[in-house]
Amino acid sequence: MKEYINLEPETWALYEKILPDLQNVFAKIEEICELNTAKVLQAFWLNHVSEAHFSQTTGYGYDDIGRDTIEKVYATIFKTEDALVRTQFVSGSHALAKTLFGLLRPNDLLLSISGTPYDTLHEVIGIEENPSSLKSFGISYAEIPLKNDDFDDEKILEFIRNHQVKLIEIQRSRGYSSRKSLSIQKCERIIKKIKEVDSNILIMVDNCYCEFVSDKEPSEVGADVVVGSLIKNLGGGLAPNGGYVVGKKELIKLVAESLTLPGEGKEVGPSLGINRQFLEGLFLAPQVVSSALKTSILASALLKELGYIVDPEPLENRVDIVQTIAFGNPADLISYCEGIQSGSPIDSFVKPIPVDMPGYKDPVIMAAGAFIQGSSIELSCDGPLREPYMAYQQGGITYESGKIGVLKAVNEIIKKRKEEVHE
Ligand SMILES: *Cc1c(COP(=O)(O)O)cnc(C)c1O
Repeated sequence: MKEYINLEPETWALYEKILPDLQNVFAKIEEICELNTAKVLQAFWLNHVSEAHFSQTTGYGYDDIGRDTIEKVYATIFKTEDALVRTQFVSGSHALAKTLFGLLRPNDLLLSISGTPYDTLHEVIGIEENPSSLKSFGISYAEIPLKNDDFDDEKILEFIRNHQVKLIEIQRSRGYSSRKSLSIQKCERIIKKIKEVDSNILIMVDNCYCEFVSDKEPSEVGADVVVGSLIKNLGGGLAPNGGYVVGKKELIKLVAESLTLPGEGKEVGPSLGINRQFLEGLFLAPQVVSSALKTSILASALLKELGYIVDPEPLENRVDIVQTIAFGNPADLISYCEGIQSGSPIDSFVKPIPVDMPGYKDPVIMAAGAFIQGSSIELSCDGPLREPYMAYQQGGITYESGKIGVLKAVNEIIKKRKEEVHE
């Protein structure tokens, strides 16, 4: 590796120092990868995936056998009655929005039990005013914050006893917040309690970044609908866009009619040549998620060793592929992002600079040199320039390339520290 990658001797030494400690966690990740690979393969076998399914439809997309088979494969993996896996979903945010619009009606109440939802849903729900929000259609919203990084069971149960709630949203991954992500066990516990009080409440889980990190998915522990993005875990780095929704048949029908049109639902939606990428991406996804996890763990260990506050800690049990690093000062955050960018396969020569972004009060720096725009299953790192100068890092399609990106990023910090000593 040293022949091709120029790093400070201190960076190599640090890498060699921390590596032995990671072998046990890596082994656990490989076990989960094996289990999920078997899960995916079995779903391919049961649904008789064949070369014919790589075919495409155009126009209306009637009788798209590839698309329909992909949806059966997803339903098998998630152990649900049905699935909607479409290129017509722009990304995860769109799939989440369509699910909410499909399942909620005027005068319904939507409740989030994992605090404020992901940023892109604020205008969808009407937390931020928008004339097209759910709120504008008379759908009201309430939220219950987490308590000590877990569901606040007592408050949640009290709320649903006193209000007629139609749908509960659970967001597992932390988004741009500093809370912990929510494990399958925690989801299982709260879903069971909610269903005991009122079995009619629909539970929707935003599963972004969490797929194939654990041995189970939320639909296996009682969630009615599970939603995610194909430019994250399940796209395996090959899906050029898209989103998925899995769940009960009648719910998927409603979501499909919200995505396309009432009366046609799942029957329309041309696959436009995307079926092979969706299938192969899904086939690779367990391995890709495993690579992204190892990349995050390596970053966590290296940066902890350099004295930064990392979350999760290197050896901590993980729920998603996201790693946060609190740099505590803007210069280190910028150096790290520059290093990530310089290790990317695409646009390695570009220097990321903090810029103002819609929806953010402070400038944001983003490092991503990806094959697919905005893909965050590919190694990427971003953070707003404000206290505590937190970087959100995720992805790494192969561990080897993710590792090199992280080493180059850490090297930028080590170089800067050496320069400071010399000054
Ligand atoms: C990324 C993400 C989304 C949105 O997915 P996109 O594909 O980026 O639109 C929603 N929720 C969470 C928790 C996420 O991490």
